Amino acid sequence: TTNDIKESERPVDKLIGGLLTADFDESACLSRYQKHFLYRKPSPYKPSEYLVSKLRSYEILHKRCGPDTKAYKEATEKLSHDEYYASESNGECRYVVWVAGYGLGNRLLTLASVFLYALLTERIILVDNRKDVSDLLCEPFPGTSWLLPLDFPMLNYTYAWGYNKEYPRCYGTMEENHSINSTSIPPHLYMHNLHDSRDSDKLFICQKDQSLINKVPWLIFQANVYFVPSLWFNPTFQTELVKLFPQKETVFHHLVRYLFHPTNQVWDMVTKYYDAHLSKADERLGIQIRVFGKPSGFFKHVMDQVVSCTQREKLLPEFATQEESKVNISKTTKLKAVLVASLYPEYSGNLTNMFSKRPSSTGEIVEVYQPSGERVQQTDKKIHDQKALAEMYLLSLTDNIVTSARSTFGYVSYSLGGLKPWLLYQPTNFTTPNPPCVRSKSMEPCYLTPPSHGCESDSGKNSGKILPFVRHCEDIMYGGLKLY
Ligand code: GDP
Repeated sequence: TTNDIKESERPVDKLIGGLLTADFDESACLSRYQKHFLYRKPSPYKPSEYLVSKLRSYEILHKRCGPDTKAYKEATEKLSHDEYYASESNGECRYVVWVAGYGLGNRLLTLASVFLYALLTERIILVDNRKDVSDLLCEPFPGTSWLLPLDFPMLNYTYAWGYNKEYPRCYGTMEENHSINSTSIPPHLYMHNLHDSRDSDKLFICQKDQSLINKVPWLIFQANVYFVPSLWFNPTFQTELVKLFPQKETVFHHLVRYLFHPTNQVWDMVTKYYDAHLSKADERLGIQIRVFGKPSGFFKHVMDQVVSCTQREKLLPEFATQEESKVNISKTTKLKAVLVASLYPEYSGNLTNMFSKRPSSTGEIVEVYQPSGERVQQTDKKIHDQKALAEMYLLSLTDNIVTSARSTFGYVSYSLGGLKPWLLYQPTNFTTPNPPCVRSKSMEPCYLTPPSHGCESDSGKNSGKILPFVRHCEDIMYGGLKLY
């Protein structure tokens, strides 16, 4: 058809408007260049030229400071000095170490947050690889590595004591105790950015704090939240961020497409499944069902919620009435593929039953697929994590997407796809929420546990009321910050 011709004549933008560098061998990581054009329509969101140039300079810096460089060796030697006096020498390498924790969705959100922070502060990011990061993701920066060498001294430390608020170099704690000032700069600080963080931990992004933190060569970040929305509270960062991301809700969408390239093993899972089940459909709907709390599993009130949301929002057809089904409906022969992601296989099983037994009022044919049903979370088990990543990618390749409120697994999936999701409210008291879901106005993830207020002059203001484009999230009852 003419449409197909146009499609094949379109120049393939393998590098997504310069977001990706061409300096990689294609076969070592097929997804890097393939994933953007083989399986999806080109994203309508283009990266800014400023972001592209910033990424290219970052890549040069990472190559200069990365593992196996003289600079890295010198910087790790500083770690053994108890008190470090910031020298004036320019061009020193400074680092931020990302420590793995929590589920895969959490990890990807925080990796992107920490990378953006590194980009803004001219540090380089190194990734804790004691877990299975390298089984999941390819190296993102050419000619170097983002994996923190396993002999990095502070990692042995995490084994012995663990990083938490009690850790002597925890920034928030030092700030509360007034035990940090510019006369004695420690060689490293631990940044605690978990759900139980205090405002003192979360407001490290403020200008006053940054002027000190900037001098510290090593920052060790443990995080499980997407803290990007708070970066805009710092006026210096804000000026830079506006240039990097003129379309504010595209931050994670661009970062994820730049940073996260599934390994060939994972990519093979994605493409095989897509080709077998999703490629032939006229339209694809993704549904991600996460059941928080205990007990967890298959629940009728959740199943009802999914059906009610998808039918109400016209994502799935209504069932035909008896009269309608007697008439031989041939209004359409559209094939709709539904991709379900959940730990529990019963959700797709039930949907399949519903749509195979009863014809739809539109005559549409609905086919339901669920790649896995792992039942329990098994983070750090290689195959389990690979399946989870493959499903996030498969979900991102759908045309419309429904995800569970508060789920970082869902956040990654829709943002990667550049999709504004329908968010399924979290049920309380084992009943179906009414309304069952809400259409999000933004494709950004939600920062689930943000600071209560802003920086310096905004310290009296609710953090959701400081900037017109950083507002409370739609999917949680209170708090939460999201870029719109
Ligand atoms: P969140 O807990 O929903 O915010 O998402 P996370 O990804 O951080 O943690 C949940 C983990 O449970 C995932 O990383 C998977 O290991 C597992 N999991 C949850 N839901 C699914 C699913 O639909 N499919 C697969 N394959 N794994 C899932």
